[in-house]
Amino acid sequence: MTPDQIRDYLKYYRDLGIETIYRSTSIPLEQTPLLSKPLIELPVLAPEGDTLQKIRADIGDCQRCRLCEARKKIVFGSGNETSPLVFVGEGPGADEDEQGVPFVGRAGQLLTQMIENTAAKEGIPVKRSDVYICNVVKCRPPENRAPQPDEMEICGQFLFRQLMTIKPKAICVLGATAMKALLNTKEGITKSRGQWQKWNGIPVMITYHPSYLLRQYNAQAKREA
Ligand code: SF4
Repeated sequence: MTPDQIRDYLKYYRDLGIETIYRSTSIPLEQTPLLSKPLIELPVLAPEGDTLQKIRADIGDCQRCRLCEARKKIVFGSGNETSPLVFVGEGPGADEDEQGVPFVGRAGQLLTQMIENTAAKEGIPVKRSDVYICNVVKCRPPENRAPQPDEMEICGQFLFRQLMTIKPKAICVLGATAMKALLNTKEGITKSRGQWQKWNGIPVMITYHPSYLLRQYNAQAKREA
């Protein structure tokens, strides 16, 4: 890859809001022949013929950010892989880390209610299994802290590939972290909630994270969501 190609590549990534690039682990640095191959192999953002299976294989036993240190299971995503609707949360919690499935704890149960009951009220028979659900980061942040910007940027590349592969008709971001990851905005969630925005041409609806709605004093927010 020439310097110009690398520059174009990086510009493309920056336009998508990505500032940090990880080195592919497919070629260990010590085995990289200096003269015949580039030292850094840039990941392809939307490889031709990409599939969720390939993305999961690329993630492998990922150690690209510090969140690998305490995780039990990588939580890739679950649901209908051709769904027109994708929900994006922040990151796995304790239950998700144990099971390797997103949104299975109390917040997950609330999300299921939100998806199924709200749709039912509108006369639309949508089940949780009809939609696809994933997170910005695939490993549980210690003590459920919010993912840090570099962790979001590194792991977000897999999320972007997932979204580009599924190509949903709409994305629903759950909470401020997912909103920032996709829309790179400085606005607060309270102000942005309920608005349609766009990510790569795909309409994005912003709403509260179910964990936030579980707090008793957020009953009003629950109604809004
Ligand atoms: S959070 Fe993402 S980038 Fe970080 S170790 Fe886990 S899978 Fe890899």
